[in-house]
Amino acid sequence: MCTFVRFSWIRQKRTMAVSNKESVINAVERILDNYLEMNNHRKTLERYTILRAIYSTSGHFTLEELNERLLRDMNFHVSRATMYNTLNLFLELRLVIRHRFQGSTKYEACYDNTSHCHQICTICGKVMEIKSNEISLAVENMPTKRFRKDGFTLYVYGVCSTCQAKITKKKKKVNVKS
Ligand SMILES: [Zn+2]
Ligand SMILES: [Zn+2]
Repeated sequence: MCTFVRFSWIRQKRTMAVSNKESVINAVERILDNYLEMNNHRKTLERYTILRAIYSTSGHFTLEELNERLLRDMNFHVSRATMYNTLNLFLELRLVIRHRFQGSTKYEACYDNTSHCHQICTICGKVMEIKSNEISLAVENMPTKRFRKDGFTLYVYGVCSTCQAKITKKKKKVNVKS
């Protein structure tokens, strides 16, 4: 009995997660619909396919990675110029945010996630998303001047444990030699 309850609860959670993703996709598609209609732009298949691809997965991606994913998963080819212009439009509509990480430009869906905290290793460049209610709360309570807060991005720089271990190993070798 207990196992069953647990199982159905997990299933319920999963379907909720899926429908939540769909409702987010519907919401961002509506934003794009409105913008294109208001500005008399064409509702191209490219724009909607790219938007759907961005919101179907989570995490950071480069323009090239998004292109590869479209080709691999949807057999959909988009030129580099179209991809670039579409991402710029999404930036303007605040559907994606752009990060300039060490040596690469990455994008991220942001409609349903307005608080972005990242830890960045300054040696290998690895970026990880961190969830912090404390920081979100601190920003929420932070006074601003004649300003409505919509979201924030935070970068915490340091050294990851893998790089830290490599450094320690190297130091030990140097000590043994000398
Ligand atoms: Zn992020
Ligand atoms: Zn590292």
